[in-house]
Amino acid sequence: MPLTRLIFAWLLAVSSSGVMAREYTYSDAHLHYVDFFQETAGMPELLKAMADNHIEHVMISGIPVAKKWHEDEPKRPRYYAGDDADAYWYSATDVIVAAAVSKLTAEQRQHFHPFLSGFNPNDKNSAMHIQRMLDLYPGLWQGIGEVFTRHDDLTALTSGDTPRANNEAMTRIYHLAAENDLPVLLHSNITSKREKNALYLPEIEEPLRNHPHTRFIWAHAGTSMEIHRHQTRLDFLLPTLTRMLETYPNLYIDLSWSVLTPYLLDEAGKPREAWIRLVERFPERFMLGSDVVGRFDKVGKELRSFDPFLDALPEEVARKVARDNFLTVLPRSVAR
Ligand SMILES: [Zn+2]
Repeated sequence: MPLTRLIFAWLLAVSSSGVMAREYTYSDAHLHYVDFFQETAGMPELLKAMADNHIEHVMISGIPVAKKWHEDEPKRPRYYAGDDADAYWYSATDVIVAAAVSKLTAEQRQHFHPFLSGFNPNDKNSAMHIQRMLDLYPGLWQGIGEVFTRHDDLTALTSGDTPRANNEAMTRIYHLAAENDLPVLLHSNITSKREKNALYLPEIEEPLRNHPHTRFIWAHAGTSMEIHRHQTRLDFLLPTLTRMLETYPNLYIDLSWSVLTPYLLDEAGKPREAWIRLVERFPERFMLGSDVVGRFDKVGKELRSFDPFLDALPEEVARKVARDNFLTVLPRSVAR
């Protein structure tokens, strides 16, 4: 048999036996261009990570708080949890994102989806600040967030009151988001570190019900690494999400890291059947995120870590989750 025919026969054999691995193209629906000190490895590193890892689209946002290097702290902290000093609301984060995106070529820009995050979610003036930022940068912002509301240790370290997703300041912002067709990426923990029930669920459920024209992306499906550290797996998460997705068509789920383990994959790294069924049932409502902060060398690894779960889904659904769903949640004016 000639060599080309041999290769063809082999290709046919592996593809029909399903051995050939799927290659995914990704959208990263949750990426922070800066860290908690508003520092970044910069655009060249991000562009390289995207090119090397088939990441076609990224949501790009700042970090809405800056961690203080407090006068009393002898060493500069390396993370918000590094010491007891507080973090404060920091609007310049959006200026950093806008400047980085404005330096891209028109072609590169099509792959970047800037979200505006630098405002205090406890301040009823914030909607007006957001409007000013929309006016200052016409056509730039494609979403709002990540908004930090209930966020365990970070909430405790942030100066001022704890923001609730259902407070008056946020209500004004949801109206503005709907008017401008902007999705909102919201971090709102489903519970505290110790309560084994959906303690804070009403705080996100109320706006979902009251703002049917606002698209909400629930960061990490309401989970966080800190919650898992204290109570491992929340057994009410899956039934709660199922009910929420059935009830609120304006709800989208960001599956980034604290959802992957221990929910999507078991201890052995095997996809969990119940979660596969949930995603299959709502194929347009889930998206992937890396949640990297200011460093981009691990973006590819983070997104690829979902591959075992994606591989367990029907191919058409897997491609939606990996790439398309994030794009469909963006404003209609954005070319998809
Ligand atoms: Zn985040």
